[in-house]
Amino acid sequence: MNSRHVAIVGAGVVGACTALMLQRYGHAVTIIDPNPPGEGASYGNAGCFNGSSIVPMAMPGIWKDVPRWLVDPMGPLSVRWSYLPKIAPWLVRFLQSGTPKKVAAQAAALRGLLEPTVELMTSLAKEAGADDLVRHEGHVYVYRSEEGFRKDQGGWALRQANGVKLQMLDQAALRDFDPALSPNFVRGVFIEENGHTTNPSKLVKRLVEQAVRNGGSFLQASATCIVLDGDNVRAVQTSSGEVAADCVVIAAGAHSKMLAEQMGDRVMLDTERGYHLMIRDPEVKPRVPTTEAEGKFVVNAMEEGLRFAGTVELGGLDLPPDWRRARMLLDQARLMLPGLSATYPEERLTQWMGFRPSLPDSLPVIGRSSRSPGVLYGFGHGHVGMTGAPMTAKLLASSISGENLAVDISAFSPQRFQTNRAAA
Ligand SMILES: Cc1cc2nc3c(=O)[nH]c(=O)nc-3n(C[C@H](O)[C@H](O)[C@H](O)COP(=O)(O)OP(=O)(O)OC[C@H]3O[C@@H](n4cnc5c(N)ncnc54)[C@H](O)[C@@H]3O)c2cc1C
Repeated sequence: MNSRHVAIVGAGVVGACTALMLQRYGHAVTIIDPNPPGEGASYGNAGCFNGSSIVPMAMPGIWKDVPRWLVDPMGPLSVRWSYLPKIAPWLVRFLQSGTPKKVAAQAAALRGLLEPTVELMTSLAKEAGADDLVRHEGHVYVYRSEEGFRKDQGGWALRQANGVKLQMLDQAALRDFDPALSPNFVRGVFIEENGHTTNPSKLVKRLVEQAVRNGGSFLQASATCIVLDGDNVRAVQTSSGEVAADCVVIAAGAHSKMLAEQMGDRVMLDTERGYHLMIRDPEVKPRVPTTEAEGKFVVNAMEEGLRFAGTVELGGLDLPPDWRRARMLLDQARLMLPGLSATYPEERLTQWMGFRPSLPDSLPVIGRSSRSPGVLYGFGHGHVGMTGAPMTAKLLASSISGENLAVDISAFSPQRFQTNRAAA
């Protein structure tokens, strides 16, 4: 196998895992990012490595919820009116993705990508001396109403059909499982296979530091274009000059679209903005990371406090954050964990907004570019980038090394939108 010099655009969780995986295969890496590692979407997420998170966002019947998204800015999913014209084609495609047949195929593809997450992430973290940041304790989903639980049956069936083992908890069993949770939750579903990190940003930083210790380099600069010589990669042009390379991985999260377009691929990448609110020195903590299934947010006890993270806002990359969406998580937090204080001084609270890189079919883009076989993509993981990063890294490293891939990646094809447009 030929050793390559691979330039990785983006030092989020995908870029960081890819760097270490490529080094395991004997390749040299340069990671390029205008910001320090782990400061994009990989900074403030909920930190879950949920191999079970294979249920696409657009499930059958989702179109019935659209009117609510448009009129309720504080709902779990909302659309900023001024962004509606821009995101309309993405939304149409999103709604079209929610047929039973497509959803079954999306879930199966995601399972192949996500199932090995805990094993792979643990191994990368060990290499980077970051195993203290990775836990394998499971994840519980909780419901306030039987109706909410019934509405999610399609998702639970999809998980089971793909080999996810569920442990159903009734109200009493849930109370025994975690007495810190409100007694008003009527149902729980525990999934043992899932893991989490207690500090996603620190984890990414440690992975990149390890890549540098292994002989790689990190360049704090913005990639502006990829320089080709015929079909072959020659360099990446950056805000700090050219980086010579014979292969490029584009892992710039929600900002990957422009570079992919330069490489001949019009991917339907947009962003599902998400928020977090953190409470420092909380009075109570959940036993394991817990999803409030109807409110669509997760609580995770992080190193720096209790993090409530989630919800979706379709508002693009440029509109300012609507901090009310982070604040509403505080009200929900108190309903979830009644042991929390009724008031907090501002210095104990922090809020954050991040850009999930999202395709309308809830699948990432993993594969080779149209213009050059030396330019590969690893972006668009939406809600599951922490979870999907290690396997994405393995697939990219195998691909660059000319090895057979561990799973079928045709569902993640960068060209899937172009093909369908032509066929339509
Ligand atoms: C509220 C919330 C909760 C979430 N919870 C979870 C969870 O529990 N589990 C899970 O699996 N996922 C979760 N996610 C999703 C997850 O955070 C993302 O999918 C993941 O972080 C994406 O990683 P990435 O490396 O692709 O992108 P990013 O982390 O955004 O990294 C991309 C990097 O590319 C850089 N970049 C951009 N443009 C350029 C350029 N031109 N040149 C060089 N570099 C560039 C950026 O500076 C950035 O550092 C959550 C997301 C949110 C918002």
